[in-house]
Amino acid sequence: VNSPVRAFSSVDADPPFISRAEGAYLYDADGNEWLDFVCSWGATILGHADDGIVAAANKAAGEGLSFGAPTAAEVELAERITSLMPSVEMVRLVNSGTEAAMSAIRLARGFTNRERFIKFEGNYHGHADHLLVGAGSGAQTFGVPDSTGVPNKTAADTIVARYNDAEQLREIFSRDGDEIAAVIVEPIAGNMNYIPGTADFLGAARELCSRHGSVLIFDEVMTGFRVALGGAQSLCAVTPDLTVLGKVIGGGLPLAAFGGKREIMQRLAPCGDVYQAGTLSGNPVAVACGLAALSRVAEEHFYARLDEQTQRLCSGLLTVAHAEGIPFYCGGVGGMFGFVFPSAPPNVSGGKRDLDAQNNSAPVFYEHIKDADQKRFRMFHQGMLQRGVYLAPSAYEAGFVSAAHTTDDINRAINAAFEVMKEIAAAG
Ligand code: PLP
Repeated sequence: VNSPVRAFSSVDADPPFISRAEGAYLYDADGNEWLDFVCSWGATILGHADDGIVAAANKAAGEGLSFGAPTAAEVELAERITSLMPSVEMVRLVNSGTEAAMSAIRLARGFTNRERFIKFEGNYHGHADHLLVGAGSGAQTFGVPDSTGVPNKTAADTIVARYNDAEQLREIFSRDGDEIAAVIVEPIAGNMNYIPGTADFLGAARELCSRHGSVLIFDEVMTGFRVALGGAQSLCAVTPDLTVLGKVIGGGLPLAAFGGKREIMQRLAPCGDVYQAGTLSGNPVAVACGLAALSRVAEEHFYARLDEQTQRLCSGLLTVAHAEGIPFYCGGVGGMFGFVFPSAPPNVSGGKRDLDAQNNSAPVFYEHIKDADQKRFRMFHQGMLQRGVYLAPSAYEAGFVSAAHTTDDINRAINAAFEVMKEIAAAG
């Protein structure tokens, strides 16, 4: 595989090899059809091979694959992003979320002339050395939160804090606040399963960054144009200084971005002294697909419809699990969701809503995912796979619904889950 989680090793399965995809379905090289809730890890919000995006890609490709020179379409995409996400006053296009997050940190360090920054355990911001500390998703799936090959010196300026723990964040700032260049956070975490940042936590991050002159960076690679038109920041009413984007903004092609306050962005070369560059940045085919995707998501009722299917899925899964007496939580927003099989109430402190296996309440802390029932997750994943439903092969990942998922598709997934939950209940 070319990205570790794709190997399916944490669910003891072999990954299907995909030969084509259309709408809500993947088709593999063995002739199987899969109802897809991974959606290219969140990138394909319109479903696979959407006619409008494919037409935009074909048209752009016919006019040249790469120029390494400015184009009007890049400016149009930048203007589209800045108009849909008001905190983003200027934007730089890059090729991957990793590159965007890494560059946003460099910019924050250059802007503040400080080196240390805070990230949260279980949040993932791509695989740049200094961000691969306490990282979620693939890194956790494989039990190597700190990758071999990351120099200690590089990681030394990364402070890893506890997600949704405003009190701990205040303590760190009261001790080291004036040395902190940035706080980078997923406002709705999707790499430690699906855990929305609490208003208290995100509000504290905003207030502390403002007070200490640190840059607040929202990593919306997953949530941007996925949970709502204005991203997670439009739902949580906290305005970041910088935002990192990816996935949906490329419509399925390699495109990502970072942007934010003009005063900070103007420090980027060529205007300023923070260097960042890319041969394929603003690639014309990717930009054309991004424009096509952003036009569609801006249509009236787009997110209301998406959210309706996501809520249908979540409540269906909850119903079939609880009917079997299985402790289970499922929640989501827009086109993003997560589900958890809690084990015994986890041993965490300081939480207002500690996960209670009996009332199946929402996970708040990373421990709620780490301590969840991996065996049941694996059984569920395998059972769904046997019934043609393709879920992310890790209990640390979020799931995704696209605009191509119909009510019939959602019902099909719930019916499959109904059977699998019975098997799980029977296994005890
Ligand atoms: N940030 C977040 C929140 C992500 O979910 C991801 C990838 O899943 C990244 C950054 C890295 O993006 P990419 O895989 O495009 O490098």
